[in-house]
Amino acid sequence: MRFETKAVHEGVAIDSSYNSVITPIYPTSTFAFDEIGKNRGYDYTRSGNPTRAALARNIAALEGGTDAWITCTGMAAETSVLFLFKQGDHLITGNDIYGGTYRLLISAFSQFGLECSFVDMQEPAQVEKAIRPNTKGIWIETPSNPLLNIVDIAAVTEIARKHNLITICDNTFLSPYFQRPFEFGVDIVVHSTTKYLNGHSDVVGGAVVVRSPEHAEKVGFYVNCLGTAGSPFDAWLVLRGVKTLPQRMEAHQKGAMAIAHHLHAHPLVKQVYYPGLKNHPRHELAQRQMYGFGGMVSCELDTDKVDPVVFFNHVKLMSLAESLGGVETLIEQPWTMSHASMPEEARITAGITPGTVRISVGIEHPDDLIADLEQALEQARL
Ligand SMILES: *Cc1c(COP(=O)(O)O)cnc(C)c1O
Repeated sequence: MRFETKAVHEGVAIDSSYNSVITPIYPTSTFAFDEIGKNRGYDYTRSGNPTRAALARNIAALEGGTDAWITCTGMAAETSVLFLFKQGDHLITGNDIYGGTYRLLISAFSQFGLECSFVDMQEPAQVEKAIRPNTKGIWIETPSNPLLNIVDIAAVTEIARKHNLITICDNTFLSPYFQRPFEFGVDIVVHSTTKYLNGHSDVVGGAVVVRSPEHAEKVGFYVNCLGTAGSPFDAWLVLRGVKTLPQRMEAHQKGAMAIAHHLHAHPLVKQVYYPGLKNHPRHELAQRQMYGFGGMVSCELDTDKVDPVVFFNHVKLMSLAESLGGVETLIEQPWTMSHASMPEEARITAGITPGTVRISVGIEHPDDLIADLEQALEQARL
């Protein structure tokens, strides 16, 4: 089956009671046994639930993995995976990863002796240089947030194979429709389903996808042991959302491409960050490892000519909000919003300034979005 067909059908319609076309929600904490030692595959919802299982099967199929676990948030998915590592283990990751992942490593897992190096993962040589005798894993996130840097997944997994390291890839920004890290040798894929997979800004959730029996057993154990599994109702909503993932991603990309081109030629904009633009420094790599360029566009306003605060305060159609991946366009200032928890120096080093704009392009008509940007830029012109 092709991707669009799998998105609609995989895992769905597993209930035969009434031939319901849609997977039912099983909002139950527990399942009765028919007799001692005999149940119908489920006993307690923390350990397993049919609605969650349907979504897990769907996402595993879309990523090309063998098994998946549905968690209550993206952070819960990451937490469940990080328990594969032990005290004294060392992990290598990017210096521009999602802030919540950085905080999870620095403020939570470091307490249990998990060591971490943060490097420029756009340079595979930097990854190799950071390897120590106790290195056990590499955590990849690509494209990065908010500047859309691209990591060469195949180059990194090749280094990992040489040194016998586990590779994990956060695939939230593109979704499996536009990027499938297993095809480049990654071991484990994590998602915040809050974003594109659900796509309607009405759920927080996560997923872990694996492709080896060993990781399946371990991740499954930790999801149950830690209690990180998602609710049946949330799983049902994400399953509803995921059916239109291909069509939504195409629309997000179409809008993002139009906005990126518009801003690229704009006198009030200094730089545009979008891997679909030919002048993006890793445009060719993006073409090679991604099936599309996604729906996130960032840019740097020329703050000599435009006041960014006035600009952000004057968008009308776009919502001034964090998060991403929903059908409605969201715009935000990383400096004071998504990346405010980073020390000022780290933000500047990463290339984030008060003039940096991040847009999660929704599925509205691109002309309406461009008109909104134009009127806000006009108001903010100095
Ligand atoms: C949002 C996000 C997360 C965290 O997911 P939650 O659902 O908010 O817990 C992790 N990684 C990336 C890239 C994200 O955008």
